[in-house]
Amino acid sequence: MPQIRAAICHAFGQPLTVETVDLRAPGPGEVEVTLDACAICFSDISYIDGGWGGALPAVYGHEAAGRVSATGPGVVAYAPGDPVLVTLIRNCGTCTPCATGRPVLCATPPGGDCPLSWNGAPLAQGLNCGAFAERVVVQTSQLAPLPEGIPMDAAALLSCGVITGLGAAVNTARIRPGEVVTVIGAGGVGLNAIQGARLAGAARIIAVDMSADKLATAIEFGATDGVLATLPKPWTEAKRIAGRGADAVLVTVGAIPAYDTAPRFLAPGGRMVAVGMPHSGATSTYEPVLLAATGQSMTGSLMGDTVLARDIPWITDLYLQGRLKLDELISGRWSLDEINDAIADTRSGAARRNALIF
Ligand SMILES: [Zn+2]
Ligand SMILES: [Zn+2]
Repeated sequence: MPQIRAAICHAFGQPLTVETVDLRAPGPGEVEVTLDACAICFSDISYIDGGWGGALPAVYGHEAAGRVSATGPGVVAYAPGDPVLVTLIRNCGTCTPCATGRPVLCATPPGGDCPLSWNGAPLAQGLNCGAFAERVVVQTSQLAPLPEGIPMDAAALLSCGVITGLGAAVNTARIRPGEVVTVIGAGGVGLNAIQGARLAGAARIIAVDMSADKLATAIEFGATDGVLATLPKPWTEAKRIAGRGADAVLVTVGAIPAYDTAPRFLAPGGRMVAVGMPHSGATSTYEPVLLAATGQSMTGSLMGDTVLARDIPWITDLYLQGRLKLDELISGRWSLDEINDAIADTRSGAARRNALIF
């Protein structure tokens, strides 16, 4: 069986170890992709920390791009050499969510045997990808073709952080021209929610973050204003700036206090969109009477409600036209052997996105 190098998580909360593992050939409906880049997402860190459980040992990593290096039986849409995104979105195409335009919620995602093994024992393919590795074998539905001319490290970001933020603004919140939008958290996902709100024509885009540096970055990505989350009542400052509450509040962080306070930024009739992913079991409180009394709503956005075939072409086109920032999202480039340092840098909160380059 072909061997590749991958970063394995043997125990939650422990450093990953880069080792040689076995990757079987692609089966029916599967494609092997030789990766050029994989960025580190906070979801990877939540798994590494044990925040969401799951089988061990495992290979995480799910924000990747590369070129097709082999195709399984029956695969006609891709050929060796094709540049592609690798995402965790795996869908059947025919169940009710898939047929109604929400493949991220697929009820019957296809899946075969796990393609990874280690010393003859099963090795879990974390987040359907296992992309902290030189190569992956994934389902065809997880891929999206890329245009030539897009750098692979920038493209990798599209696979999770960019579509999660952009999609939350455009697909889930359905922001319209002239609206007031508050984005809580100006990290990798938040900056893309800001870009989405800008593209959708929001009149005011108010970034809220604990860090003044991140607020400055948010302005570069299209926020009109920044409010420090450390203020006693940041929602009062946000309403003073916009002259009213927000039509949409997008919460892009995992910290529970952000969810507790997000509704306070809303105007009557406003909508709150939960985009970040707190650890399982974490709870937030809200006043139900306010929903009916103010006509407000709360909803969630998984992977930006993205439809890869619909959304990746326009997103990559905007990038190639210079209308969407991707390169500026990358704050560090690392080798696979440096993965624990890259994760520590991401964990520190200072980074935008750290990318592994293979
Ligand atoms: Zn992610
Ligand atoms: Zn489905």
